Amino acid sequence: MSFAKTFLRLGVCVLIILTLVPSSSHAYKMLYPTSSSWANYVACDNLNGFAHWDHANLAFYYNPANLVAAKHAPAQAALEAALATWTNAAESDHQLSYAGRTTRLLDLLDNQNTMLWGGTSSLCRNNACHAITVVRYDSAQVLKEVDIVFNELMDWRTDGLSDTCSNTAAGTRLDTQGIATHELGHSVGLGHLPMNDPYYPHATMGGASCSTAARTLHSDDRAGLRCATDRYPFNPLYEGSLQEASCRTISGWGRNARYPNNQAYIELWNGSSLIGVHPSNPSFSIPTSWAFESGQWQTVGVKYTGTGTDLGGSPQDIICGVSMFPTQSPEAVFDTAGQVYTVGTQFSSSHNGYITEIGFRKGEQESGSNTLRLWTDSGAELASKPVSCTVLNYDPGVLESWWCWVTLDTPVAITAGARYRVTVNTNVKQAKTGCGIGSGITHGPLTAHAGFWSAGNTFPTTGSCSNFFVDVKFDI
Ligand SMILES: [Zn+2]
Repeated sequence: MSFAKTFLRLGVCVLIILTLVPSSSHAYKMLYPTSSSWANYVACDNLNGFAHWDHANLAFYYNPANLVAAKHAPAQAALEAALATWTNAAESDHQLSYAGRTTRLLDLLDNQNTMLWGGTSSLCRNNACHAITVVRYDSAQVLKEVDIVFNELMDWRTDGLSDTCSNTAAGTRLDTQGIATHELGHSVGLGHLPMNDPYYPHATMGGASCSTAARTLHSDDRAGLRCATDRYPFNPLYEGSLQEASCRTISGWGRNARYPNNQAYIELWNGSSLIGVHPSNPSFSIPTSWAFESGQWQTVGVKYTGTGTDLGGSPQDIICGVSMFPTQSPEAVFDTAGQVYTVGTQFSSSHNGYITEIGFRKGEQESGSNTLRLWTDSGAELASKPVSCTVLNYDPGVLESWWCWVTLDTPVAITAGARYRVTVNTNVKQAKTGCGIGSGITHGPLTAHAGFWSAGNTFPTTGSCSNFFVDVKFDI
């Protein structure tokens, strides 16, 4: 397994005067390490996840070299307090512990989380850097090691005195506990929240980082911590089920019974492709995406995030936008000698579902109005809608035909096994294949059983093996 590292530098912060009132939503961002040194910041439902640990207990060591001896003990106390802040937060599943002193320096391959002060070859020695968090992670964003480097050129205080983040000169006073709390936030997966957000000046993971205010977590920091706990819980007790998978909605419920009042996160899969991450609180209802609108059977899977484990009732197969004659075309366009006919297709579905569109193959030079209708097999009208489209001619020697579809204002529910008829009136031209349906055409759940026709604008009652190319689109 290959590893990469990324850097999070607490550097010059621009303080922004904000007049906005903080909203009830949160601005926190999660850490998404990249191989290009600097991290990205993403939302909790980021499709590819964010940096996280696969175990709860995280031991941190402390190297006081490069601090004057008088500061060794106060700095250790400040670091221990910062570790305890994240551990003791009610939203936390993480246990950050002080493991003792070390002489190790920045070394991402020693499998030891280390907090240290600079050194002449430090990544964080120029004045634009106050402290930096460096992480090692694998391709699944699982953290393997975190090292935190504080700039030894600064005046690391524990007496409450601190300059702002905009101070960058050597000797700038910085609150050791506040900045350690900020850097340890990165170590549990939090990024920086946006600088233009109303929460920014107040959050430990924002502009408060260079003050004693950063010692205490803001509600936004706590929201980020809860996101890390909810999306990547340690030893979860997941329970839930996929209750509906249709072309309209994918819904059910799921939760981590170890934290029954938190929201869980579920993954939505289309076959082997992850297409979404959604909160479940404890239920979820996701509009079915266009990705399923293919006219082919597809598999909807819902899994608990990061586990590969399906909810009960998952996966389920659905088909959306399927029609009867996607691969057929009429043998010719016939002249009706001015006679109006109503022609149609008798069909059934092997599954309950909905007719969402109706359409017909319109012949070139057909004129007048055409109305598509959906009926029960005994002639009760279920839907009716006029359709208008133009058939282009690419071959002057032949009458062409093309599909004209309309979307029903309200999808019509149909019952598995029952027969229905879909019809259209033709006025002067008719696209057709004589005996084209034969003994039936099955595509997906739909079967075309027979053609039907009648003279005039009436429910067609005369059966035929002909295909008059009147069709439906069906959703599970
Ligand atoms: Zn930072």
